[in-house]
Amino acid sequence: MSMFNMTLIIDASYFLAAVLFIYGLKRMGSPMTARGGIVWAGAGMMLATVVTFLFPGMSNYLLMIIAIGLGGIIAWVSGKKVAMTDMPQMIALYNGMGGGAAAAIAAVELYSGKDHGLTFGILAVLGGFIGAVSFSGSLVAFAKLQGFKNTTLRFRGQQIVNLIILLSTLIMAVIVITQPDIGNTISIFFILALILGITMTVPIGGADMPVVISLYNAFTGLAVAFEGFVQQNPAMIIAGTVVGAAGSLLTQLMAKAMNRSLANVLFSGFGETTSEEGTEVSGSMKPIDATDVGVMMAFANKVLIVPGYGMAVAQAQHKVWELTQLLIDRDVDVKFAIHPVAGRMPGHMNVLLAEAGVPYDIIYDENEINSEFESADVALIIGANDVVNPVARTDPSSPIYGMPILNADYAKNVIVIKRGQGAGFSGIENALFFLDQTRMLYGDGQEMASELIQAVKSL
Ligand code: NDP
Repeated sequence: MSMFNMTLIIDASYFLAAVLFIYGLKRMGSPMTARGGIVWAGAGMMLATVVTFLFPGMSNYLLMIIAIGLGGIIAWVSGKKVAMTDMPQMIALYNGMGGGAAAAIAAVELYSGKDHGLTFGILAVLGGFIGAVSFSGSLVAFAKLQGFKNTTLRFRGQQIVNLIILLSTLIMAVIVITQPDIGNTISIFFILALILGITMTVPIGGADMPVVISLYNAFTGLAVAFEGFVQQNPAMIIAGTVVGAAGSLLTQLMAKAMNRSLANVLFSGFGETTSEEGTEVSGSMKPIDATDVGVMMAFANKVLIVPGYGMAVAQAQHKVWELTQLLIDRDVDVKFAIHPVAGRMPGHMNVLLAEAGVPYDIIYDENEINSEFESADVALIIGANDVVNPVARTDPSSPIYGMPILNADYAKNVIVIKRGQGAGFSGIENALFFLDQTRMLYGDGQEMASELIQAVKSL
């Protein structure tokens, strides 16, 4: 085949791959079509990978095939095995690999000693910098979430140390761009960038990691896009830009839903507090047993279920759906109310409920459902805490003040399933638990859901 035809095939394939990425992303926007969206985007990635083999001047085919085979098998097996609650660290790991790959491309280009000209030199170095930070930072995030490294290292003057490392890296970057031949500058530049990723991430509280992972995801996308320019590879540019933009939007969405700025996530150490902050809540928590809750729900007109992180921990989604079906059979109007940051990653609850087979048309977002709590006979809170804490509305001194919450406290009766006195992610007391209309059903989410099923069945 002539070179011209080959280039045409490659360009056309990249164009098609880009269309598939964007179409896939669009389908991922709704839970109904998300699964298909992943398949479309995956097909785009497969096409972009296969067509790389056609590139003129390619060599090392065997190495490429072995690497793709090994990576593919590891990803397939770990993807099949991973528990839903471990998803954030899995994403951190894969994301870090993307950043590392972008940094590796930059390293190959820079070490090759080719004269790229100023613009491409800057792009290669920028991509290398962001990719390396994303790589080492994501690995720390993974280690923290996986429990390898629980201790969060903080010391006085830490931000100054980080600033010094950042400035040193940038100085090395300038030297690499302007005088690429001097000594070991390229290696020192990469080592500093890798260290920066670690020192930036180490002080951030484990529970804030999902936001950080989303930020690194955006970084990785940017790094890939920059290296795509260097490589003159449209698929990398488009895929990188799409990931960069989606990651930035997601980071912003998460920060907004928590009513926190990104700077606050990165520098404040939120969620690590052991002392009680914010409002002193008065009153007492009143326990109830499953039989009474069963009666209350079975004879209700409307029940709103608010799932949270604890439902994911307890893996209670299947039982909750079974309970819901029993109630629907008794003509109770049952709806799920999902807060955008319920659980530990965006869409966490939607994915769990979808896995259990809950139909999408009874799952509502916060803004769609919030006005309905007032007319609900029962709000059943299962493993949720911060996302239903009314102090976010009432107490300016609370660390979660201003965070949009689900208005569960407006329901006529509130039932809270949790194991004991455990605080939520923010570490603060929840005023909802002390309200007159609230009753606590203490126990593991899955066990309590089973007891409720028995209670409703026995009526
Ligand atoms: P929370 O983390 O506020 O509370 C979870 C509650 O679940 C705890 O109070 C705990 O109480 C209970 N629980 C734990 N295990 C079980 C179990 N096995 N059975 C029953 N209950 C259990 O959860 P929310 O979903 O309400 O809030 C999410 C928080 O995470 C928010 O503050 C959000 O800002 C933050 N966050 C969310 C991200 C996202 O993208 N979704 C990202 C980063 C942070 P007990 O120990 O007594 O059982």
